[in-house]
Amino acid sequence: MSNALLEVINLKVYFYTLSGVVRAVDDVSLRVLPGEWISIVGESGSGKSTLAYAIAKIVPPPGKIVGGKVGFMNRDLMEFDEEAMRSIRGRHIGFVFQDPLTSLDPLRTVGDQLAEVIQVHLGVSREEAVREAGDLLELVGIPRDRLNYYPHQLSGGQRQRVVIAISIALRPELLIADEPTTALDVIIQDQIMDLLKEVQRKGASIMLITHDVALAAETANRIAVMYAGEIVEHGNTHSIINAPLHPYTVGLVDSVPDLWSKKSVKSIPGFPPDLRNPPPGCRFHPRCRQALGICTNESPPMTAIEHDRYLACWLYLKR
Ligand code: SF4
Repeated sequence: MSNALLEVINLKVYFYTLSGVVRAVDDVSLRVLPGEWISIVGESGSGKSTLAYAIAKIVPPPGKIVGGKVGFMNRDLMEFDEEAMRSIRGRHIGFVFQDPLTSLDPLRTVGDQLAEVIQVHLGVSREEAVREAGDLLELVGIPRDRLNYYPHQLSGGQRQRVVIAISIALRPELLIADEPTTALDVIIQDQIMDLLKEVQRKGASIMLITHDVALAAETANRIAVMYAGEIVEHGNTHSIINAPLHPYTVGLVDSVPDLWSKKSVKSIPGFPPDLRNPPPGCRFHPRCRQALGICTNESPPMTAIEHDRYLACWLYLKR
């Protein structure tokens, strides 16, 4: 028995394309404890969204989960068929996607969509579901008279709030938010983050997928840094942000502008690799200024370097 809510072990997700096999998630392991907030951070194409989809077993074709385990509430989701997964998604694992329009039906009012989720999954009367839908709208900061609005009658920020209302309607233990604020302006972004904090305060675990290190650090208890399909560093937020060790994490943290210091913003040289043919050894080695000889041919193992701090970099490993 594990005390983790979610335990991902050696997960591999590959995409079988005409031009080759893309190793989007390659041997990823991580744990999420009940009530904690974990941010998964990395550049686009690092595999962080694919990891999130794999946890809920919604990887789109031609992607396939080809190895590893996803333990959730002490059950192995890899053994669940599609029907069993439908009872997990929404009820126990909620999802918020970047574009709320892809999650909402444009032809139905938001109240209808919210009430349906509540009625179908909780088996309550229509009247009760509508009342609960109004309560949820108010919880996410939208007046309940908007129940009769269609998605296009709401602003982008309000639509994202509706998606969050739908995703927390069944009080899932884990809410996965995949770049939920990317399409929104900074003020609305703050409001959505406050809303997610409130969801966490009510007891849910949050997994935030983002390319934005500052956003990742804002509220997370822990941060996992992904590069080229692998987690390269993982630990509590304070140590990852204040004392990053992996050269990629250092690059990500240095790329965040700081209004109050004269520190210059540095970008990471080069580009992420083609995951059909990732570099041998450490996948970051073509971009790493500190690369050692061993880095070009041996992959550094993920190693615990202190309590709850994990790192895959030869600079810090005994050979
Ligand atoms: Fe750089 Fe080597 Fe560490 Fe990779 S293992 S990040 S190439 S020093």
